[in-house]
Amino acid sequence: MAHGESQGDSLNAEWGRVTQILRTNIGEAAFQSWIKPISLRGIEGEVVRLSVPTRFMRDWVLAHYLDQLSELWRSENANAKEVEIVVQAERGLQPKEQVAVPEVSPKPAQVMEPVREPRSKSLCASLDKRFTFDQFVVGKPNEFAYAAARRVAEASKRPPFNPLFLYGGVGLGKTHLMHAIAWHIRQSEPNRTVMYLSAENFMYRFIRALREQTTVDFKEQFRSVDVLMIDDVQFIAGKDATQEEFFHTFNSLVDEGRQIVISADKSPSDLTGMEERLVSRLNCGLVADIHATTYELRLGILQSKGQQLGVEVPARVLEFLAHKITANVRELEGALNRVVAHSQLVGRDISLEATQDVLHDLLRANDRRVTIEEIQKQVASHFNIRTSDMHSARRARSVARPRQVAMYLAKQLTTRSLPEIGRKFGGRDHTTVMHAVKKVEELREHDSSFAEDVELLRRMLEG
Ligand code: ADP
Ligand code: MG
Repeated sequence: MAHGESQGDSLNAEWGRVTQILRTNIGEAAFQSWIKPISLRGIEGEVVRLSVPTRFMRDWVLAHYLDQLSELWRSENANAKEVEIVVQAERGLQPKEQVAVPEVSPKPAQVMEPVREPRSKSLCASLDKRFTFDQFVVGKPNEFAYAAARRVAEASKRPPFNPLFLYGGVGLGKTHLMHAIAWHIRQSEPNRTVMYLSAENFMYRFIRALREQTTVDFKEQFRSVDVLMIDDVQFIAGKDATQEEFFHTFNSLVDEGRQIVISADKSPSDLTGMEERLVSRLNCGLVADIHATTYELRLGILQSKGQQLGVEVPARVLEFLAHKITANVRELEGALNRVVAHSQLVGRDISLEATQDVLHDLLRANDRRVTIEEIQKQVASHFNIRTSDMHSARRARSVARPRQVAMYLAKQLTTRSLPEIGRKFGGRDHTTVMHAVKKVEELREHDSSFAEDVELLRRMLEG
């Protein structure tokens, strides 16, 4: 790469600062695994070129850190408009890798090519290549939100509902669906402009515009937008000036028949610190929530991710992960990636034993706080029965059902085996526990208020 000594030096210094900030943002463990191995190749035109040792790493870094890397580079160096990540082996360092990375790949083409995000719309954040409708696994907890997102993506004339308000807990696919809408429209109707940004970014830009007295330009940027998506709108709760600006932007776009898509971690009415008139505006369109994952959805997602990674993961391992990693999809995906990365590094097949080994910290974290006794107590008080009924032989449904819920939660939230759980419930057999788990899963599927009860309990127990 042709640049003088001093330019190279300052580039290295910039890279040093970028990585330092990332380090504090993402934590030491993630930094060591994913950022440290990256090397700086140089800058060509407006493209900063980075390289990583393996294709797997590249996909991971692209998926998880491209946005932050691009953002940080831009703030360090005005010329650095794009970030490109290549695999070292592509330059012929490791023949083995070269075989593993065919130039023409039949599988998800988007992931294979070095990704560049053109920055045509200065306000639009870059979109994750993997967040498409194709790669979104649909199940009971998210089918409504998915259908609504598809409707918006496919409606070329008038917005079917405005705004579309997506909400749900962290890591359940809100951002994924929003990016999917953007990708779909970019492909099917390239003339329409889609703008996606986080509420945080919206606020940041707005405040900067205020400071630099460029609010007219700021507003101008939204004028020609056909679809505006603002992610994580809970962020502007309590930020009055930003809300005010957002409210006006929102209204003028809606008045002109432009589509708006919003996401948040709560429903509009549950967002605290939001102005009443904004809340009522947000409630005007379609409000679609994404529920906590079910075992089936988790398993489906794992199968799909396994295929995308192109690795053979034994069914037992997938089932184990689906049972144990229940918090959200992001964590689930992270767990699978760790298991796969480990097996590739040590060059061994994926086994249940290795999985338990590699994830032992995560698995422990998942049941660290909760004991079976706590679960029994909490569930009993929730359903208004005595804790001793958890051990009793009574079979009345009013007691038996809560007991089953407690068994189910014990299975989900602790690493205890079925026989161990059975013993703690008045010496019941492990098949009784198994039956309870099945029963509760079934009820969760079909009875949403029951599902909410269970979900609530799980949250309380996990603290
Ligand atoms: P949120 O924005 O709700 O916090 P994200 O959209 O960032 O969550 O999702 C977290 C991760 O989980 C992403 O990598 C996303 O691709 C993945 N994910 C979430 N739901 C699904 C799903 N139904 N199918 C496939 N991947 C999913
Ligand atoms: Mg998100």
